[in-house]
Amino acid sequence: MPTKFKHIVIPKEGEKITVKGGKLHIPDNPIIPVIEGDGIGRDIMKATRRVVDAAVEKAYGGKRRIIWMDIYAGENAEKLYGTVMPKETFDAIKQYIVALKGPLTTPVGGGFRSLNVTLRQVLNLYACVRPVRYFQGVPAPVTHPEKMNVVIFRENTEDVYAGIEWEKGSKEVKTVIDFLNKKFKLKIRSDSGIGVKPISVTGTKRLVRKAIIYALAKGRKSVTLVHKGNIMKYTEGAFRDWGYKLATTEFRDKVVTEEELFSKHNGQVPDGKIIIKDRIADSMFQQILTRTDEYEVLATPNLNGDYLSDACAAQVGGLGMAPGANIGDFIGLFEATHGTAPKYADKDVINPGSLILSACMMLEYMSWDEAARMIENGIETTIKNKTVTYDLERLMEGATKVSTSQFATNIISNMR
Ligand code: NAP
Repeated sequence: MPTKFKHIVIPKEGEKITVKGGKLHIPDNPIIPVIEGDGIGRDIMKATRRVVDAAVEKAYGGKRRIIWMDIYAGENAEKLYGTVMPKETFDAIKQYIVALKGPLTTPVGGGFRSLNVTLRQVLNLYACVRPVRYFQGVPAPVTHPEKMNVVIFRENTEDVYAGIEWEKGSKEVKTVIDFLNKKFKLKIRSDSGIGVKPISVTGTKRLVRKAIIYALAKGRKSVTLVHKGNIMKYTEGAFRDWGYKLATTEFRDKVVTEEELFSKHNGQVPDGKIIIKDRIADSMFQQILTRTDEYEVLATPNLNGDYLSDACAAQVGGLGMAPGANIGDFIGLFEATHGTAPKYADKDVINPGSLILSACMMLEYMSWDEAARMIENGIETTIKNKTVTYDLERLMEGATKVSTSQFATNIISNMR
């Protein structure tokens, strides 16, 4: 991989994050690549960098500092390189390991494939991680939104999302339908489109492993495998079975299954162990509403995770504040979960909360938890004080509307 880039300027100060002995090694002055993003990316990235810099300064008194390095994707890359996703952007993320990203435009119906999906696939970022918690004061549609505090690990590379599908009437779909009908004596209608749903041992194990390691490291009480295995036995059912198998072999001394909990332990969790349980996806959607605080870490195949993470975020007041990350073996790309909201671009009005909280996840990933807590406290107090951007102001009684940059300034002054 090149050590020099065509358009990316490598900062003179700062050091690379590296992997040593199977672990991330974080210097005190890491160089972090940043994709600003299209549309409102420009507004929220500016605000986020200010908040993160202030939190790190406050938490470590100048001993630690992030050295940001601009890398390019989307509209600004098109201008510089003539392509929306230049190769050196991938190279930079591979080399520098931890990166922050604003939203990128995906044109509907043609043009190019989603840049976000491309980034995940090329960098093999197989776990989409979405923490969902409640911030006091945010208007929410349920009576007890504060009971929600889950982290969803959604498989990112397989399932019907793998993009293996053929259009109704195409030559390819005819070949596939003829083959299936003849070989397996099926009766698939000739006017069907066909999609394929691969779920592998490899994909399942690495995702569930990540979820369990996270739960153990962060002192969470349970990991729930969410699947529709009663109907899709050899894909979603297998996801559940392989998940349990992994848990009870690789983590045997640290986990107890829900079944063992009652058959062997009288319903009492043995000291130092976490529970591994599973729920059928439709039941999970009910349970997360009715028995919210019984769930902590959820591991799901791609499609279930997509629906579930938005439903959970809505339960605590919407997507404006939902953070996310796409993580591989070591590479972590931390990003806002919303899009580029073009009508608000460059107007300094949009809520930067989602990207700021994604940056918080990034700090935790780097084990800079003190700085992450400061940002969370700053956001919590700012929302409690009801000085918020338009999206929250229109839903909160007696709130004062502030700009994106003022919201960031308030978060900084409320950090403790
Ligand atoms: P969007 O950009 O997420 O915006 C939809 C609406 O959500 C906005 O009009 C606004 O609602 C609200 N919203 C979004 N972000 C907000 C924020 N930070 N603060 C407050 N409100 C916020 O979705 P879209 O219009 O469907 O997509 C626009 C482009 O973004 C598309 O090209 C799409 O492909 C892309 N996209 C990218 C990503 C990504 O990069 N990860 C993800 C999703 C979509 P109100 O108008 O009601 O205030």
